Amino acid sequence: MELTALKGIGDKTAEAFKRLGIFSAEDLISFYPRSYESFDKPKALYELEPGKIQTVEGVLTKDASVNRFNGMTIVNAYLADMTGRLQLSWYNSPFIKNSLREGMHLVFRGRVYEKNGKLIMGQPKIYQAESYKEKYEGRLMPIYPLTKGISNNTIVKAVSEALTLCRHTGEYLPESIIDEYGLKSLDVTAIRLHFPRSGEELRASRRRAVFDEFFLNNLAGARLSERAKRLTSVYRCKPDFGLIRFIADLPFELTAGQLKAYKEINADMSSGRVMNRLVEGDVGSGKTMVAMLAMLFAALNGYQAAIMAPTAVLAAQHFETFNRMLEKSEFFDGRINTVLLTGSMSAADRKEALSRIRSGEANIIIGTHALFQEKVEYKSLALIVSDEQHRFGVGQREALSAKGDMPHTLVMSATPIPRTLAIIMYSNMDISLIKERPQGRLPIKNCVVGPGYRRTAYKFIFDEIKKGRQAYIICPAIEEAEEEENESLGGKTASEKNAAKLENVTDYTEKLRKIVPEGVRIAMLHGRMKNDEKDAVMKHFKEHETDILISTTVVEVGVDVPNATVMMIENAERFGLAELHQLRGRVGRGEAQSYCIMINTSVSEKAAERLGILNNSNDGFQIAEEDLRLRGPGDVFGVRQSGDIDYRIADIYRDAAIMKDAAAAVKELMDRDPELDEPEHQRLRRISDEYLEKGYIV
Ligand code: ADP
Ligand code: MG
Repeated sequence: MELTALKGIGDKTAEAFKRLGIFSAEDLISFYPRSYESFDKPKALYELEPGKIQTVEGVLTKDASVNRFNGMTIVNAYLADMTGRLQLSWYNSPFIKNSLREGMHLVFRGRVYEKNGKLIMGQPKIYQAESYKEKYEGRLMPIYPLTKGISNNTIVKAVSEALTLCRHTGEYLPESIIDEYGLKSLDVTAIRLHFPRSGEELRASRRRAVFDEFFLNNLAGARLSERAKRLTSVYRCKPDFGLIRFIADLPFELTAGQLKAYKEINADMSSGRVMNRLVEGDVGSGKTMVAMLAMLFAALNGYQAAIMAPTAVLAAQHFETFNRMLEKSEFFDGRINTVLLTGSMSAADRKEALSRIRSGEANIIIGTHALFQEKVEYKSLALIVSDEQHRFGVGQREALSAKGDMPHTLVMSATPIPRTLAIIMYSNMDISLIKERPQGRLPIKNCVVGPGYRRTAYKFIFDEIKKGRQAYIICPAIEEAEEEENESLGGKTASEKNAAKLENVTDYTEKLRKIVPEGVRIAMLHGRMKNDEKDAVMKHFKEHETDILISTTVVEVGVDVPNATVMMIENAERFGLAELHQLRGRVGRGEAQSYCIMINTSVSEKAAERLGILNNSNDGFQIAEEDLRLRGPGDVFGVRQSGDIDYRIADIYRDAAIMKDAAAAVKELMDRDPELDEPEHQRLRRISDEYLEKGYIV
């Protein structure tokens, strides 16, 4: 159903919705809230605590007053109940004054802070007392990710309409599974995920949605590996003396983990079975080297090997690295030929690349998603390596393989998750774990500081740049989000939800441009830029034509600029630990000392404790373990930890217990009906086939 078929959505709003990845009314139903605001019962004034968003109810003791200074207006009002008095303040919203008169009985909701020993509520939202009790109290209101031109209210209205107008897909899980794991029905889940009436309802609905994500993903993997097991591989490899000498001649010694991973890969590819292996290693552990050895192994056996990188920049980076390593090697007698294939190449280059791939002349193929396109024909593709790419489907696999012979697959992942979780999550793959990092790297120096430290941080960054280094600054948002509407006034006040402002790359870049010393070159990068724009920005940074890159988390994955030594992260409390660790992995890649500055703009103790984990450890696996311990299961609210894994709602850490259930359910199902032939599994089979086509997550 068209978005514009919903009330109040015109072409312009529909356009804005597209930026959130919403193209139809159905998309809205699975556009889950980012978090929920819980509207509690008003507190007595003497119970208030600073630092939290709270609700109060009382009577205004006099008319509100407006004060002006420094070009700002402040509206003040005073509220009293039987237990005390409270000052309420609004900045730059002078119109509010007229609706706040002595004797009015109202409810206010906002963040309470302390000033000169007194408590003040800042930017509170205003409600009529009865309206609050009827419409809000005890409820959980959804908070959605926003974009310019779309307010939370717009989404709330659109979602409610979509829920009533769109037909639901209908149940596909077998009844036995629903019963055994105590799952809510699908249609109830859809409604209650958006509009839970209680914390309990939210937990139950969320559990179902999370279960389904894990279940479908795990099932896809299981079906794929079931298929692979029954095949004998046509691409059986034998040892090659050139490769053995190449490894001995490398400028560095392989780490124990790299060597072990390579031996396991070697054994898989020589076994006559189809390899389906995951190499898991922390950022900087040298996974590219392992991928390269595997590819050389296939190529020296007379086959082709392809590596797929998530971006053109990363593909080009690998291409260079491979060529550099191969240049010096005389052990291959010209048997190795590399080629690069990305979407942004010129037509002539592309044509040449395609013909070299088709003839089999090129046997080490490096590229992006362009590798999957129909036009690309391979002569004998024996190995696909997927680098830092978390979605990989059977459709893609088959598209890559010319005759439909199943190639070996190798997936390189930097997601440091605890071993116990990895075993469940990747139950359908063999895992090689690289634990250590190459020797001779200085550990990154970390600090977690408040916004007051920003100036010092800038000075530090400018000093590093003077020394010829480069820096990243990460902001959580791309642009300023639309402010929320004030329910009872219909007007707008500054968003009170977060006392701390969410930094966005657009404004930040402008702001920084004004204060950087002369000659310091800065650039902006975010996910909504066009691909070739993004590539150009990254290329300039790599070639040191830019000094500071202000970016969203799009730089998170794989980028290797060893000259960058500072990573500064704004609103660090907004990111998951895994994400922060991944971001930090962008520095500390060369010999020089590197630094990670995390700006914590939250007053919450929990945030401080979480960031403390990162501050004290550079070991991704240890961070993952501690994070899991700190938060425990059942923590429904809060930041998603695994931002880099492509689940929509599930969080592998927080939802570890559900993941276990889902994996067990898949196992039972596969033991009973591996082909999903039974009549009661037909719907599930269709949904699962679709899921496999789209690509599952590894
Ligand atoms: P990641 O695991 O994050 O993909 P990379 O493969 O990009 O890590 O490796 C990071 C850097 O370490 C590269 O510059 C690479 O050349 C180097 N490297 C890889 N293996 C070793 C090793 N055994 N000893 C020293 N340096 C290595
Ligand atoms: Mg890598």
